[in-house]
Amino acid sequence: MNSVAIAETTAPIMVGVVREAAPGERRVALTPTDVKRVATRTRVLVEQGAGESAGYSDAHYVEAGARIVDAAQIRTQADLLLAVRPPAQPQVLRRGSALISLGGRDAAITEVLAARGVLHLGLERIPRTTRAQSMDVLSSQASISGYASVIEGARLLDVLLPMLTTAAGIVRPAKMIALGAGVAGLQAIATARRLGAVVHGFDVREAAREQVESLGARFVFPEVEVSAEGNGGYAAAQSDAQQEQLRRALAAQIAQMQLVISSAQIPGKRAPILIDKQTVHGMAPGSVIVDLAAESGGNSSLTRADEIVEENGVRIYGPTNLPSLMATDASRLFSANVRALLEHLVDAEGRLHLDPADNITSALVGGQAATPTFPLAA
Ligand code: NAD
Repeated sequence: MNSVAIAETTAPIMVGVVREAAPGERRVALTPTDVKRVATRTRVLVEQGAGESAGYSDAHYVEAGARIVDAAQIRTQADLLLAVRPPAQPQVLRRGSALISLGGRDAAITEVLAARGVLHLGLERIPRTTRAQSMDVLSSQASISGYASVIEGARLLDVLLPMLTTAAGIVRPAKMIALGAGVAGLQAIATARRLGAVVHGFDVREAAREQVESLGARFVFPEVEVSAEGNGGYAAAQSDAQQEQLRRALAAQIAQMQLVISSAQIPGKRAPILIDKQTVHGMAPGSVIVDLAAESGGNSSLTRADEIVEENGVRIYGPTNLPSLMATDASRLFSANVRALLEHLVDAEGRLHLDPADNITSALVGGQAATPTFPLAA
């Protein structure tokens, strides 16, 4: 295990908001509104243009109390860096600094950062508990993905979602199913309902039934033994035979749908394959599958990350960063989560507390032997 020492510095700590470098990433980790709140307890640096693609100008940040600096200055001066994505070149980060960003489910990222002497506080590691709800980036971004998946799916469809009664005739509403009724799936259900589709939902957790039905959708539960409740509200992985049984049972339901939004995932594992080629061949040409599990391998065997694949006239789209499409609001929610986390970790005098007895902190540190020499409160 790597030991990560955070450099000693004077309070209040210097927080640095990084400009995202990953292709297609338009979000920013902290918005001016939250800079204003964070600046009451820390000093804040913002990398030039960090919020530009999300609609937040440097002038907004200056008004909120931040100082605008260049990329090199932020890395050398900030004690605690804030980013949406981990940097592609961790070697440029300052030994002894800490980084709050996504990437917390990828042990390799945290290890590379630790080898550089940077403490990685990976946002995905925040526990899904009521106490940590305000910091839950996974949920806030999954809600946006769920919404955006329906908008993107509707754009790709050759049919309309709502019923239309016109002088030229009646258009029947499209049928949609959400496979996986977690945060993203439930938001997709709510969005498709608002757009007038006939909506269905499925999840291996029987507990999801009530949530799906409370949104006015029909819960589909195939006549096979598929229930797979895991720990902490997550699903458990199924055996290959169970997955095959489930795929065949779902195929008949999927064949009736024009829009499929899939978001079935098991944390830390490859996403279960719910839709194979045979199922796609059973669907009507012109139908669309939006596969939100593309980043973890996809719920369809045909999914290719960030591409639209066509099979038998069915379009299969596997976007990996839908929140970035709606960068202003996605950043606003991401930033509110990060601000809540900063308010949890940094006291009113601007000292960072990494208390191993606190379950949020210990989950975030995630096994890195952090030896903070930061100005800590007794
Ligand atoms: P996720 O992204 O890990 O997975 C999405 C959904 O896929 C889950 O609902 C899961 O049950 C489902 N799934 C897995 N395998 C499947 C399969 N083979 N077929 C169909 N569906 C399958 O999940 P998530 O959206 O991050 O949420 C997971 C759980 O955590 C939910 O129960 C949610 O209510 C809970 N949660 C709690 C809090 C909180 O208490 N603060 C916050 C957010 C989420």
